[in-house]
Amino acid sequence: VRQLGDAAREIGAGNLTARAPVAGGGEIGRLSETFNAMAARSEERESRLAELDRLKSEFVSSVSHELRTPLTTIKTLTRLLLHGGQDEAERREYLETISFECDRQIDLVLNLLDLSRIESGKSHLTLTRVDAGDVVGACVTMERHAAESHGHELRSVVAPELPPVRADRTALRRVLCSLIENAIKYTPEGGSITLKAEESSGEVLIHVADTGRGIAPEDVPYIFEKFYRGRAPAAPNGDGTDAELSADTADYAEAPGVGLGLYIAWKIVGQMDGTITVESAPGRGSIFTVRLPAWREQAVEASSGVEFKL
Ligand code: ADP
Repeated sequence: VRQLGDAAREIGAGNLTARAPVAGGGEIGRLSETFNAMAARSEERESRLAELDRLKSEFVSSVSHELRTPLTTIKTLTRLLLHGGQDEAERREYLETISFECDRQIDLVLNLLDLSRIESGKSHLTLTRVDAGDVVGACVTMERHAAESHGHELRSVVAPELPPVRADRTALRRVLCSLIENAIKYTPEGGSITLKAEESSGEVLIHVADTGRGIAPEDVPYIFEKFYRGRAPAAPNGDGTDAELSADTADYAEAPGVGLGLYIAWKIVGQMDGTITVESAPGRGSIFTVRLPAWREQAVEASSGVEFKL
């Protein structure tokens, strides 16, 4: 009983690794076992909280970085433009960079707003009959300029007679655009990005495949988590062994981002009764697959006009 008391005092003082000796199978022994199980759970919770804390500080520092870098560029280029003296081509280039950086800022703020809406349960989706092929086409059109500015080929293949899906059109567009933007970001210049939509056993599958840096196997289980950012994986050598990070891949370790895109995509797809998965091989690219239930006419009454809450 005294040793049990000592262990309780140690835990109270902050040493969560303290445990009571378990002596015999009597009541004191059982009490010690229960006490130790409680101590183990507290220790585990503490370490999860510490990890969350670490992720939060990392998040704050990446958000600050993500906000500061484009703002500095915008400020510098605006100053140069105010001083004047550039020719028309230069002026245009500066203005295009400013516009691109503004878009990046808007994207970041939208992601943060989405996150807070999701967390507070205020995000609503309206599930209706949606032509997935149309949405794929719209996303390819929206992202074409960004893809081409990195020298990527962006194309889509939509199976003929693809059934409509039960989804929220705007939300689906956000998910697919965000997958394409990741593909653009994590693929070295001159890559290829392909969207493919097909039917499989009553579901519609939309694949977003790239020829980029791929995802390290140890990161794969976590990439859909909030604030998680993966490291650039080592590209395999011809003989199957891991190479050192090449200058090219090392650059991509610094790709801009705060680790929210896939978390938000995963939440949205889940709310549309779908799933999102990934297959990836380091150095050989990634394929993200969104599966959505095909639209069924009898679902009309149940879903039209109904608001679904994230
Ligand atoms: P962010 O891009 O801001 O880091 P995301 O949530 O969109 O956040 O992605 C989480 C992580 O998943 C990224 O940091 C990256 O490591 C990995 N990832 C996502 N998409 C790809 C892709 N197409 N190719 C390689 N890695 C990817």
